[in-house]
Amino acid sequence: MSNSKLYNREFLDFSYRLGNDPLQVQGAGGNTSIKNENSMWVKASGKELSNSLSENIFVPVNINLIRNNVSSDNDQDIMKAVMDKNIKLRPSIETTFHACLNWSVVAHTHSVSTLVHAISEKGIKIAKKKLNDIPFSVIKYIKPGIDLTKEIMGNLNPKTQVLILKNHGLICCGNSVKEVSYLIRTVEHRLKMPIIRKIDQLFKSENIPNYKLSPESWIAYDDHTIDIVSSGSYYPDHVVFLGPKISFEPTKTSPIFLKKRIGIFIKSKASRTQKSMLQCLSNILLRLPLDWLPEPIGEKAEAELLDWDAEKYRKALSTD
Ligand SMILES: [Zn+2]
Repeated sequence: MSNSKLYNREFLDFSYRLGNDPLQVQGAGGNTSIKNENSMWVKASGKELSNSLSENIFVPVNINLIRNNVSSDNDQDIMKAVMDKNIKLRPSIETTFHACLNWSVVAHTHSVSTLVHAISEKGIKIAKKKLNDIPFSVIKYIKPGIDLTKEIMGNLNPKTQVLILKNHGLICCGNSVKEVSYLIRTVEHRLKMPIIRKIDQLFKSENIPNYKLSPESWIAYDDHTIDIVSSGSYYPDHVVFLGPKISFEPTKTSPIFLKKRIGIFIKSKASRTQKSMLQCLSNILLRLPLDWLPEPIGEKAEAELLDWDAEKYRKALSTD
């Protein structure tokens, strides 16, 4: 295939590195792409960037077809854009913004340091100061998919290379893998936050059939943090993999629940992605300053995420 040169070792190594850093990508979240004028290789839905070197996780798609769908508001089945009909993988639900961003390489992560800033107004204000010499934009929360892509395209100028997605994550774009890799390192460095919570309690144990005490159980010992996690959810992948806000008893909508002063229980059969999503939440909360008040995405946004067929597909694929 003429575009196979695009899909090179440097790009795969870069994707692999991102996928293996839990502070940037968790489980099947996050995606990378590389393109020329007509075609683009993008991560497949439900696949993990951490497997970039051991598995075919990328799909070649027709960029113009996707761009036309976005500009004509025609949300056609994304499988129509797949250029190699032997490939049965579904392109990521975030493929549309990869296609529309006019840069050769685009990387999207659910970076913990970005999320610490991107879930509160105060954090966003501070991120703007920390990134003031980088061409960046802040994008309001919208459900991932064609609507988010339109919001992104309406809030860019041709120089924008960094996008902070409120209550979602980070996008970095550039002309080469090297450039994007450098940009991500710079943003990560600028937004890095120290751990400010103590996690050295001795956890009491309690046997609950079909559940295990999670390594993130410190959350159940900190009243401020309990308030945060039981008041709502703060970014899409949490909702997709762990359900809405954390409940104080087992529910059908979530594999986790919290018992005050004991811990967070997670289903013994929880998938790897579900476990890494709980780790992600803990990594954010360990760094969240007391006076940055996080804003939940809200129940309407949660319902939108959970009813979505493409997300259900992704969830099903990542269950292992
Ligand atoms: Zn995302």
